[in-house]
Amino acid sequence: MIPGGVNSPVRAFGAVGGEPPIIVRGEGARIWDADGNEYLDYVGSWGPLILGHAAPQVVEAVTTAAKNGMSFGASTPAEADLAELVIAAFPHIQKVRFVSSGTEATMSAIRLARAFTKRKYIIKFEGCYHGHSDALLVKAGSGVATLGIPGSAGVLEELAQFTLALPFNDVKAIEQTFSRFNGEIACVIVEPVVGNMGCVLPVSGYMESLREITKREGTLLIFDEVMTGFRVAFGGAQEKYGITPDLTTLGKIIGGGLPVGAYGGPAEIVNMVAPLGPMYQAGTLSGNPLAMAAGTTTLRLLREKKNEIYPRLNRLTQQLVSGVLEAAKDAGVALQANRAGSMFTWFFAKNAVTDWNSAAQCDTAAFGRFFCAMLDRGIYFPPSQFEAAFLSAAHTEEDIQRTIQAARQSFPTIQ
Ligand SMILES: *Cc1c(COP(=O)(O)O)cnc(C)c1O
Repeated sequence: MIPGGVNSPVRAFGAVGGEPPIIVRGEGARIWDADGNEYLDYVGSWGPLILGHAAPQVVEAVTTAAKNGMSFGASTPAEADLAELVIAAFPHIQKVRFVSSGTEATMSAIRLARAFTKRKYIIKFEGCYHGHSDALLVKAGSGVATLGIPGSAGVLEELAQFTLALPFNDVKAIEQTFSRFNGEIACVIVEPVVGNMGCVLPVSGYMESLREITKREGTLLIFDEVMTGFRVAFGGAQEKYGITPDLTTLGKIIGGGLPVGAYGGPAEIVNMVAPLGPMYQAGTLSGNPLAMAAGTTTLRLLREKKNEIYPRLNRLTQQLVSGVLEAAKDAGVALQANRAGSMFTWFFAKNAVTDWNSAAQCDTAAFGRFFCAMLDRGIYFPPSQFEAAFLSAAHTEEDIQRTIQAARQSFPTIQ
């Protein structure tokens, strides 16, 4: 009834074999399938669930909101609460518009960049994913990469031609493109820590160069922090690296598990958005009260305990990543790891992964066997080599040790 049995292709097990479990319940770091199997979960709904499944305060906030009405299509105090939290955490954002997904956030942000600069072209990076809108579905990592589809059928060449896809971590490629398309580039959109070709970090100085070049060229720099916002640090990758973009897109964690996206920046730019300005963007369920309640409660909890939650996530994730690397080494398996805070990927590769080309060198068959061996042991990771995994605040030291132990048992069986 549903194509491939999934409502988003990354959920299918095409890359690893077998049928995905049908999930019926989640609590803390654990999920259960319809056959009663329990899994320790490192997917976390692909990023949003930094507090774990069914966090009691979030459930309570959503329940209370639901009793007061599901949706009004009108202004509510809940939107202002979430806006206040987002603006306080991302100092360059003076105004923010809420939408219902990360896809809408990035799609709207590039429309805004084009409206503001009155330019046509956009730059993105190979392996970065910014949702599935036409202009951004060019060399778009993860789901697309796993399926081996270059871009997507149905995207018009006439639309894709204004998207310039460059290698990540390569300053020279950016300089060359700016000299070729002098004065024509509206924006550069980037995942400041990439999650969607697996976790890939910017090399030292790369983000600084991006900032410098875009400023010089009058091009807007968009940080797509849909995954990294409130994940790699409370204030996202821009806090971690100390770089101020022109626009920021958010999603995932800011919805606390309900559908939310957002884009924001200085008033001078965001005032272009209707009804204040000529750039149109709208949404029937935008700022939905249940979603705002889940997001507000999640961000408040994170803010209250950020000096406890983030260092602990960092420490436990470090333990997990290095424990599994060590187990691989002992088994003679070539494994690389990239990590930023509580997002990480193990790459089945001999050399460091710094961009799409090096990610594509991975032994995806070995990844598939490892994935299945771990799933057999009740450990649920993303079913693709080109995805980031996540820890939540609900994961314990014991969970980490159990996972390392499972990896130690799995590696010898996958060769
Ligand atoms: C998940 C993601 C998106 C898309 O968000 P959806 O809510 O799935 O539409 C966009 N950008 C990045 C960096 C993401 O990780």
